[in-house]
Amino acid sequence: MMSKLELKNKSFPIREYLIQLAKKYGTPLYVYDSCKIKKQYIKMKNAFSGIKNFIINYACKANTNLNILKFLQNLGSGLDTVSIQEVELGLKAGFHPKKILFTPNCVSIQEIKKAVDFGVRINLDNLSILEQFGEYYPDYAIGVRINPHIMAGGNSKISVGHIDSKFGISYYQIPHIKRILNNTGLKIEGFHMHTGSDISNIKVFLSGAKILFQIAIDFPNLDYINFGSGFKVPYRKNDLKTDLNSLSSSITKEFSNFCSNYGNQITLIFEPGKFIVSESGYFLVTVNVIKHTTSTVFAGVNSGFNHFLRPMFYDAYHCIENISNPNGRFRFYTVVGYICESDTFGLNRKVKEIREGDILCIKNAGAYCFSMSSNYNSRYKPSEVMIFKGKDFLIRKRETMQDILRNIIDIYNMERWQSG
Ligand SMILES: *Cc1c(COP(=O)(O)O)cnc(C)c1O
Repeated sequence: MMSKLELKNKSFPIREYLIQLAKKYGTPLYVYDSCKIKKQYIKMKNAFSGIKNFIINYACKANTNLNILKFLQNLGSGLDTVSIQEVELGLKAGFHPKKILFTPNCVSIQEIKKAVDFGVRINLDNLSILEQFGEYYPDYAIGVRINPHIMAGGNSKISVGHIDSKFGISYYQIPHIKRILNNTGLKIEGFHMHTGSDISNIKVFLSGAKILFQIAIDFPNLDYINFGSGFKVPYRKNDLKTDLNSLSSSITKEFSNFCSNYGNQITLIFEPGKFIVSESGYFLVTVNVIKHTTSTVFAGVNSGFNHFLRPMFYDAYHCIENISNPNGRFRFYTVVGYICESDTFGLNRKVKEIREGDILCIKNAGAYCFSMSSNYNSRYKPSEVMIFKGKDFLIRKRETMQDILRNIIDIYNMERWQSG
């Protein structure tokens, strides 16, 4: 087992260590470096240190492993959740209910009632639900997600703040919100927006912020304003990323102006997912076969979009390195998975010569990777390892056939099923 120091000194930070982990735990394997998670958390915290009441709510749909949640809880983070199951995981991880914000979309009023039972903060984005909620719980102050009508985000699937998006309540409908508050007695404790992921243009944040300030000034007794997320991280060399410092200096200025106009130092919330965990993650796979066709060389690996969906679903680019042949010469490969349909990790990539049995490392695998995995093709979900205090810990076991069959009821074999 290597020390923390050794992890830091590698040129590709933890190449040899990753190979050891692949051998120790087998592949496919997700590895998360908790040092990197902490670094990102502190970086954001520091960037906004000019704001007196500043809170980071980690958006846990990026990675919900309980150990990641506990790690962030220990750092002082709050939690952004989008399903009642994520709320329950957050509570299990030890988050205080008031540090959990539940921002559902198109869920039933029953699910929202469960969130009330858990005592977490709730953020609604639908007039019909707002009205029903007000009838049941006029004394339970809530947040409201505003749709600021902004087209943002790296991909149409993750652009969620534009006029035709299913998210949020249009800011033109503020009069309707006010009517519901008057009719039910409900109080608003915060306003929220989240316009999408992968935003590299900070003007987007600022124009959204202006809209929320204009709305918020009319509502006394607010606790917070929540600007959501969309922080972009680099996926390759020279890639764009959100310029945190220029964003924070503008936001800090505008927010303190707002607070003095408002007459109260309320809380500012951001809810990053990707920013916190993306770069902490490495996905390790083994090359099963090299296959030459008339046009390309395929490297076929022991995983697929069942484990790692982003390239196929979002056209996401993830760096791929051959960590077991660092001295090989560069050649071009199309790296593909074993799923029986198109299943490409990377097209025509320049990678150190790949041989059957080599271990490839796919980077930026901490966010929206394991959490989007499935059992398609009846494959087992991979295991996860966390590097924590300089040691590696298995934080999720690889699945087995038992997991695949767990909820199947075999009506052809009732007797065996009944006797357990
Ligand atoms: C997904 C989501 C986030 C996190 O987005 P990232 O791009 O991962 O930072 C934040 N807030 C809400 C409401 C979300 O749905």
